Amino acid sequence: MKQKRHHPQKQSIEERIKNFNEVSYGLTEQDAIEEAKRCLQCKKPLCVGGCPVGIDIPAFIKKIAEKDYESAIKILKEKNVLPGICGRVCPQETQCEGVCILGKKSEPVAIGLLERFAADMEKIKQIPEIKEKKTTPVAVIGSGPAGLTCASELAKHGYPVTIFESLHLPGGVLTYGIPEFRLPKRIVKEEIEQVKKLGVEILTDMVIGKTLTIDDLRKMGYKAIFIGVGAGLPSFMGIPGENLLGVYSANEFLTRVNLMKSYKFPESDTPIEVGKKVAVIGGGNVALDAARSALRLGAKVSVLYRRTENEMPARKEEYENAKEEGIEFHFLTQPIRFIGDDHGYLKGIEVQKMQLGEPDESGRRRPVPVVGSETIMEFDTAIVAIGQKPNPLLTSTMPELKLGKSGIIIVDPQTCQTNIEGIFAGGDITTGAATVISAMGAGKKAAHSIMKYLEKTSDSG
Ligand code: FAD
Ligand code: SF4
Repeated sequence: MKQKRHHPQKQSIEERIKNFNEVSYGLTEQDAIEEAKRCLQCKKPLCVGGCPVGIDIPAFIKKIAEKDYESAIKILKEKNVLPGICGRVCPQETQCEGVCILGKKSEPVAIGLLERFAADMEKIKQIPEIKEKKTTPVAVIGSGPAGLTCASELAKHGYPVTIFESLHLPGGVLTYGIPEFRLPKRIVKEEIEQVKKLGVEILTDMVIGKTLTIDDLRKMGYKAIFIGVGAGLPSFMGIPGENLLGVYSANEFLTRVNLMKSYKFPESDTPIEVGKKVAVIGGGNVALDAARSALRLGAKVSVLYRRTENEMPARKEEYENAKEEGIEFHFLTQPIRFIGDDHGYLKGIEVQKMQLGEPDESGRRRPVPVVGSETIMEFDTAIVAIGQKPNPLLTSTMPELKLGKSGIIIVDPQTCQTNIEGIFAGGDITTGAATVISAMGAGKKAAHSIMKYLEKTSDSG
């Protein structure tokens, strides 16, 4: 009989709620080897099809079982430039692990934990050899997972690539959104360094649409452009009281905590005011990251979610971690009004109970208000985490660019080509808020389309 799935060691609950250090320590070497041996080495592995970048999962797992970690990471890096990041934050339960054959009868192989293990074991960072240098330069706008992957793939094939990033640090949501206790910034920095070593140039503080336009980039000689600017504009509920002091968007709250390091105040310049009783509205990864950050800043935190735990889009592991840490969950609960005091500060939220109706277009059952169920809950801070949409800053400067619902860029799903010649796009800007690995998958697909396009249109290829 095969062994049970191995689980990582974690920081104790009492300790971790007081710090921002990584919660999970990952698998020990012994556990990783044993976990790797659980893999059946399927002849037609379903897990590979469940991974948007198509990692040869059985092959890298086999190398871990053989203690050949350098070969394991080499196999991973053939398809994924950010393995330490993906091993930590991918929603594996709905991707590779969701289709692992072992999951049918017991628990799937811990593919994500093994990916993280191999990445963390890499001693000498391996850079693939670049066989043939090309001369046609490509511009990539945005340095999140989509932009980093598109740029690396092009660089691996010899193209000179420059990334233009609006913030002062590269990484997109990996840097300013996902907190240190889930994804240490050291890992993000290290993996971005690898991208740079492939020859990718990253220019920060460059807001395309303001500092430079797309036309400027064309004039500078970029023959193809990839847009990977994400979906960084927070959505609000449009209910009374959203402008009260103490009501934040999760985006602002997490950026202040992660990018501006407000949790290190007074060492950092930007403190953040977190009250004693915090409500986080939403049920995704963003909501849980905001809730767990507020908890670590000393607040008592409740998550208000209008559906049930079965419909929560957050990673299961992080939901379990949040419950362990003492976050309270109020399901089937929808805020309908923020209530302020005489000085304009939040003092409570009027909420309404919901029940689940028929499935909506997302396939999840639609929450329907229960008439007469309104109550008032006391809170001094609210963090709204109900979704993000694309920021129109760049797209509004390109009137000919075809846009869809909420301002996403419309692309050909096979090629990531927009309706404008030579301009490609991928990641959250084309889908709305999604996942790291789906953004990476799009970045890679776009890179291959860009190469085909350049081979057809330029002399040097
Ligand atoms: P982004 O990561 O948003 O990167 C876009 C980049 O473009 C940014 O650096 C931005 O500054 C830059 N930019 C924007 N406009 C311009 C401009 N005009 N000029 C130049 N640069 C510009 N996904 C998971 O898979 N697992 C998780 O656990 C998870 N947790 C999350 C937690 C939080 C708090 C958030 C916000 C998201 C989370 N996600 C998670 C979603 C995931 O991070 C995103 O789907 C992914 O980062 C999208 O990648 P992207 O490259 O398309 O965009
Ligand atoms: Fe191994 Fe599961 Fe993939 Fe089969 S599906 S190769 S058991 S990880």
